[in-house]
Amino acid sequence: MMCGITGTPGTGKSTVADELARRGYRVVHITDIVQPYVQGKDPDRDTQIIDTDRMGDEFVHFDGFVEGHFAHLLPCDKIVVLRLRPDTLAARLSARGYSKEKIRENRDAEALDVCLIETVEEYEPDEIFELDTTGKTPAACADAIEQFYRGEIPASFGTLDWSAFAGVSS
Ligand code: ADP
Ligand code: MG
Repeated sequence: MMCGITGTPGTGKSTVADELARRGYRVVHITDIVQPYVQGKDPDRDTQIIDTDRMGDEFVHFDGFVEGHFAHLLPCDKIVVLRLRPDTLAARLSARGYSKEKIRENRDAEALDVCLIETVEEYEPDEIFELDTTGKTPAACADAIEQFYRGEIPASFGTLDWSAFAGVSS
């Protein structure tokens, strides 16, 4: 079983993946394997352009978790979408030193479910687990992800509505 962990930057993917690794799961961080697929930089958005088609084609299936912003574009068996209330996300990205523009872009993407929508385009409903991490510790998030991985809790998504956070000034 290969399970992806995706989500807007700052939602806690790497942190929860490290916790799962401590619990003995095999974990691949996309940041560690992405370099051969980087095609350049988007001059308008301060973002790398990545050949996600080729990365998906060449990715070798394994048992465990693959973590990163493009995990939903890899051929996973199940996928977890981490969510975080957009105002909390913005505060986290600010603490990480992101520019105002990058904070707004990611906060709006989170408010408008961009990552979830992309995931729904790639996966069947019974393969998707949307996890609201707001106010949860990394250990509590890892508990829920482990249960989903083992089939102990069912797929679910689509219950959050953070659209009121979109486009507000911060
Ligand atoms: P991502 O990999 O999704 O970009 P990170 O795992 O790097 O996110 O986490 C972003 C920041 O948020 C880090 O400073 C991390 O310590 C913090 N963080 C991650 N998960 C949690 C959590 N469940 N509760 C509080 N802070 C968290
Ligand atoms: Mg990360």
